Amino acid sequence: MRTVHKITVLSGGMGGAKFLQGLLHGIRGGTLPGVADDAEVTVVANTADDWWIHGLKVCPDLDTVMYTLGDGIDLERGWGRREETWSAKEELAAYGVEPTWFGLGDRDIATHLVRTQMLEAGYSLSQVTEALCRRWLTPTYGAGVRLLPMTDDRVETHVAVADADEPSGKRVVHFQEYWVRLRAEVPAETVVVVGLEQATPGPGVIEAIAGADLVVLPPSNPVVSVGTILGVPGVRDAVATTDARVVGLSPIVGGTHVRGMAEQMLTSIGVEVSAAGVGLHYGARSAGGVLDGWLVDERDAADVERVTAGGIACAAVPLMMTDHDATAAMAAAAVRLVG
Ligand code: GDP
Ligand code: CA
Repeated sequence: MRTVHKITVLSGGMGGAKFLQGLLHGIRGGTLPGVADDAEVTVVANTADDWWIHGLKVCPDLDTVMYTLGDGIDLERGWGRREETWSAKEELAAYGVEPTWFGLGDRDIATHLVRTQMLEAGYSLSQVTEALCRRWLTPTYGAGVRLLPMTDDRVETHVAVADADEPSGKRVVHFQEYWVRLRAEVPAETVVVVGLEQATPGPGVIEAIAGADLVVLPPSNPVVSVGTILGVPGVRDAVATTDARVVGLSPIVGGTHVRGMAEQMLTSIGVEVSAAGVGLHYGARSAGGVLDGWLVDERDAADVERVTAGGIACAAVPLMMTDHDATAAMAAAAVRLVG
């Protein structure tokens, strides 16, 4: 493979952000085989988790990536700002304003205020994101990184859950309600991504995929993170036809997600919850899918044969993102697999 100068990553929130940190650690440390140490990284982030709450536009995955790469994330929670306080949330609750279950920290609110004001002044989400990133993606933390929303259009994941109190026997909730209020503890019957089919890729998204040397699907949720990005009309085709090599890393380890709710989401779309199941769901580029290579965890070594038989290069390596070095080693293995 030619030297890699441009890497494009299709990212969700926590899993994607953690991977990006390790990837950058590996790139800048010169430990990724065949990757220039000044390689540029473009992140195409999922925006289907976005919603309006208390009059504010909140973009959880964009913010998780931005805060993580900018060293402003709360490491323990994995989302939101470090050294957060919750006065506004308490005051809203004192007024009895619903919903009370969604965590909006005071520092975080400032981000949403800037975003909402700019959107209302007519700027696009891409322009707003670029403006917010000027604070976070600095020469110290995010040099050479660009963060792009998958689309500037409003796209929202909704989940149908069983509800005996409803005449239809089910209720449709916003993804945030499914995840934060219901804690993904009830089965998801169907996942509907409202607005996805009418959405247009954000500025620079298709170019970033078509013009990359390497495209990476990090261990993000295959349905509600990577799945929604690939679902923006034109994006899947761009990944399928790019000259870049395309490699993915499994978010399913030992038959379930490491954290989050990928298992519930995969079940709802009828995909086998296993490392091989997800790899084969993405499919081989040689057969109309999006992958040249797929990394599975060493615990799933028995899956390698099935993935390979599906036309996708596959290897089993440790896939737990325990620290930057471990994650950089995963990125190195991914590059090597398709190199
Ligand atoms: P979200 O938007 O915050 O849900 O984050 P993503 O969609 O980017 O990532 C969620 C996925 O990351 C989940 O399916 C997890 O299984 C996966 N994940 C989290 N930590 C790890 C890890 O250490 N290793 C692997 N392989 N997957 C992980
Ligand atoms: Ca998310």
